[in-house]
Amino acid sequence: MDMNIRGRKAIVCGASKGLGRACAEALAAEGVDVTIAARTPDAIEQAAKDIAKATGAKVTPVAADVTTEAGRKALLAACPSPDILVNNAGGPPAGDFRTWDRDTWIAALDANMLSAIELIRATVDPMIERKWGRIVNITSHMVKQPVGFLGLSNGARAGLTGFVSGLSRDVAGGGVTINNMLPGAFDTDRLKTNQDKVAKMRGQESAAVREGFRQSIPAQRFGTPDEFGATCAFLCSQHAGYITGQNILLDGGTYPGLM
Ligand code: NAP
Repeated sequence: MDMNIRGRKAIVCGASKGLGRACAEALAAEGVDVTIAARTPDAIEQAAKDIAKATGAKVTPVAADVTTEAGRKALLAACPSPDILVNNAGGPPAGDFRTWDRDTWIAALDANMLSAIELIRATVDPMIERKWGRIVNITSHMVKQPVGFLGLSNGARAGLTGFVSGLSRDVAGGGVTINNMLPGAFDTDRLKTNQDKVAKMRGQESAAVREGFRQSIPAQRFGTPDEFGATCAFLCSQHAGYITGQNILLDGGTYPGLM
């Protein structure tokens, strides 16, 4: 199916690897000009070369930390008027809330709530003026099914979810949709890091933790970044114009609730 977004311009944050990169690749494959950001210069430049080679799209790399004002400024200078914005940054560390002080909380809020809101603030009104826009925030299945040791992530992402739920209704009449994608367990570096931490906490081998985790997923496997990217491209497509304010869970059936 043609997504009908050829020639659109997108900003994709956190896109040198993992889920953000998969979103950038899927959009580029649909003929979208993508501006991609990550903090590590070599990695983001290499990702841009690889995505451009694979898709033939125009891919602009920006080495930027999206949690900083300077980083967001650099990103917006490279793509001042995106039609599509995919918000993403690394997840905050896992741990025991007793060890998290105010600065730790502020860093988590900056990464997983406020940086996304700032980028939305900078881009949503021009989208409304052009009567077309797509905003996707990569959050987490933890928004629906929180666990204590990822409390920083739960708190920050729930805040973003609440904020964009209201905003999405305000901007829907302007042709702009805002949705959140909630990854369950996708096979990326982040997943491996979290599994290593759980293994350390439990005094188990990482491979054993990984296998136990895999078996706990109804689909009996981890998600692939390509599956995630394809869903993102659909949410950013012409066809998804009537989907807004939603939290799209991609978790292989793990969440047990009815809704
Ligand atoms: P990943 O494989 O570690 O990739 C993260 C990407 O974001 C990298 O390109 C990284 O590059 C970039 N990045 C991190 N912090 C950044 C910042 N401040 N500014 C700009 N770029 C930044 O992670 P992932 O698995 O794709 O996860 C993406 C998001 O989904 C994370 O928030 C994660 O917590 C969440 N999530 C993932 C899963 C999963 O199963 N994978 C499940 C639930 C939630 P640099 O380090 O060079 O900046």
